[in-house]
Amino acid sequence: MIKKIWRSYKYRIYPTKSQKSLFLDYASNYLFVYDWTFNAYLSDPSIIKTDPTNAISALQNDKTFLTTTPLSILRASFVEATMGIERQKLTKETQSKHLRKRNGLNFRFVYRKRLNLSSENHVELPFLGSMKISYHRNIPESASISQLHFSKTADDKYFMNVLFSMDAIIQMAKKKTIKVLGLDYSTSTLYVSSNNERFEFPKKAILLNKRLKSQLEKLRTHETSSKNYARTSLNISKTKFKLRNLKKDWINKITTSISESFDVVVIENINLNEMIRKSKGLAKNIYQENWSDFKNILKYKLDERGKRLIVVSRWFKSSKMCSNCGFVKEDLQITDRIYICPSCGLKIDRDYNAAINLKHEGIRLLKQELRNH
Ligand SMILES: [Zn+2]
Repeated sequence: MIKKIWRSYKYRIYPTKSQKSLFLDYASNYLFVYDWTFNAYLSDPSIIKTDPTNAISALQNDKTFLTTTPLSILRASFVEATMGIERQKLTKETQSKHLRKRNGLNFRFVYRKRLNLSSENHVELPFLGSMKISYHRNIPESASISQLHFSKTADDKYFMNVLFSMDAIIQMAKKKTIKVLGLDYSTSTLYVSSNNERFEFPKKAILLNKRLKSQLEKLRTHETSSKNYARTSLNISKTKFKLRNLKKDWINKITTSISESFDVVVIENINLNEMIRKSKGLAKNIYQENWSDFKNILKYKLDERGKRLIVVSRWFKSSKMCSNCGFVKEDLQITDRIYICPSCGLKIDRDYNAAINLKHEGIRLLKQELRNH
């Protein structure tokens, strides 16, 4: 199951004189903690089970020169060392070999924000301040940064590696053609697709849904302690069970078929609760009830195949825009089921038009992401 891919981008950085001395301080203390952890492990293996913060605080009390280096840097060193120990099942024999491997001047720490670029060539860094950077490639919008890693070469060049994860978009970029499908949410059929296909539950589900509604009505007319009440309640739970299974099977079937046929599916970020409130608080219909299940199962199946669900902002004018010429019809009414474009004359089903627009918007966002790689 391909869910996330990891990438590391390397940037040249240009520390000032005082930043270089901070850098050296951090890097040498990082190395000190790293070596200390290995040695501590050899005399007491339980050290690797210690909480990193506790281990470092105790060490700082003993070695006060370490207090000049931020806790999160020293903690990262401790974590790197304990992970190395666990991975390699370290012994006395392999210890010296392992220590030799890590003699460069570098350090890292956990960082979970976006990079803060204060100008075109300056980045705001924790513990180091504003630093000149050669920012030659953008980190994609969808990336989640997890760590910053700083290093210095023997000839006095400085670098920063940014480690981040993101959805499996690169896997797809290797394909020659990416098949994209737009799905416009619809109250009457769940969705209309950019291929002008509609989702519909099987007739049996609609019938069961009707039966359930009338059984619920009936229940209201019975005394709560009566035999009739008990019987109707039992029937309701039977109907609910049948209906739930039928809907689940159907949603599974449709989402499997979509995720096998398409690489990217584009939907709109809709607020169903708000829509229901606006439609004067009526109970959800069968499609409204199942939209979020449908969406979650579809996302899961696409993820599983290294594919992708793109959710477009709810401010995107999927309904008002003409899918042929891009004209935006601001006065489109909710009751206009057919979109007629005053600019190019296109006459098209309202939801079908919206689905095509979602598809186009998805393609635009994908291209933008690929450009930024
Ligand atoms: Zn038009």
